[in-house]
Amino acid sequence: MFKKTRLHLVLWNALIFFLVLLAFGIAMYFYMDRVLLRETDQKLLGIAEQMNREGFKGIRGEHAHEREIDRGKVAYLFWKKDKFVGMFPEKALFTSDLDDLTPGGKEPETRTVEGETYRTLTVSAPPGIQGDFDKDEDDIADKVMLVLSIDAETNALDELLKLILSGIAVSLAVSLTAGSFLAWLSLKPIQKSWEKQAQFAQDASHELRTPLAVLQTQLELLFRKPGHTIEEESEGIYKSLNEVKRMNKLVGDLLTLSRADSNERLIEKKSFDIGELVSFVAEQFQPIAELKEITLKCTAEPLHFTGDKDRLHQLLLILLDNAVKYTGEKGQVAISCKKEAHAVQIEVKDSGIGIPEGDLPKIFDRFYRSDKSRTRKEGGTGLGLSIAEWIVKAHKGDIKAVSTVGKGTAFIVRLPIGKQSSTL
Ligand code: ATP
Ligand code: MG
Repeated sequence: MFKKTRLHLVLWNALIFFLVLLAFGIAMYFYMDRVLLRETDQKLLGIAEQMNREGFKGIRGEHAHEREIDRGKVAYLFWKKDKFVGMFPEKALFTSDLDDLTPGGKEPETRTVEGETYRTLTVSAPPGIQGDFDKDEDDIADKVMLVLSIDAETNALDELLKLILSGIAVSLAVSLTAGSFLAWLSLKPIQKSWEKQAQFAQDASHELRTPLAVLQTQLELLFRKPGHTIEEESEGIYKSLNEVKRMNKLVGDLLTLSRADSNERLIEKKSFDIGELVSFVAEQFQPIAELKEITLKCTAEPLHFTGDKDRLHQLLLILLDNAVKYTGEKGQVAISCKKEAHAVQIEVKDSGIGIPEGDLPKIFDRFYRSDKSRTRKEGGTGLGLSIAEWIVKAHKGDIKAVSTVGKGTAFIVRLPIGKQSSTL
């Protein structure tokens, strides 16, 4: 899918680039053509006008020492009833060229004869031409064709055309290569996040399937024993309830993460005492810890912090939940909150099972569980730490885990303090 998109992008890009260059090239070519011919045409028209005004006499003087048609010098071809009767200067053109140079219209025209390019203008012969040019009464011209060599201009235009065409070809090649590279560069992160999303959806549906399957089985079992009382089926109902709870938590977590992905504004900052919040969450966990005979210690100093209180509450719940969940009976869990130079440091430490070193870089990945069978028993879905990391990052902070298998784990969160935060 991405290969096709990339190809489309590159081709569209190259096509637009090509069209723009082509339009620019055409405009430049015709502009130069106009500019170069304008001068020639003005010269021809000026001479025609002068000839009309002064006759041929004055013009002849200009060519007194010229024999051949030179660049910038005009040749005059005389015609009588469209039959060539003479030219001036006398050898301005080869007589063989004259077959192709027939009198034309009243507007300047471009003619190519034997590889030479001329600009011509045909006008009626002035009266003075008869006496000056030819003694033979029969050869008195009725039309004069002014001929000016424009080889230099045509050559310049040809060179320009070659330059434009090669420019377009080179630019097209560059645009295709650069476009392909740029498309690859800009599509790479999109492709990555698309793949991540696809994987996320796949994992989520997979996770949802298990509780749904358990529920279905339990309900089917209930149907098979219509005479049983609730008490008799309490185990199955308890299992189903647990799966519903699990599913509820999973759907809630999925919603939080997908909202986080869609860049929705989920963080609402306000100033509050973060030390107090830490103590409050620790107190909330006390009964759960007591159930497992875990000693839960809390050291938190009062500290003003500007952030999203509800989200930070969620973060502490995730970390404490893990600490208690992954610590065996009679273990220890400690939570602390203290002020550093420009940050608040929260540490959640336990004497639990620990995380293998190889797993440490992956624990913040979605659905990642170090010991899948064990965490499934604990009700874990592997989304807690992904949400924790998102909350910390949304506060521009960082989170890391230090762990030794069999000895315990410590999660250290550092949240930078804004200007308004300070110790109470
Ligand atoms: P839940 O979404 O319910 O939190 P979970 O606890 O399995 O599920 P995370 O909180 O994201 O998921 O944790 C990911 C994994 O990291 C866990 O499955 C566990 O293997 C490991 N882990 C996290 N915290 C600890 C800890 N304090 N001690 C040992 N292992 C931990
Ligand atoms: Mg967890």
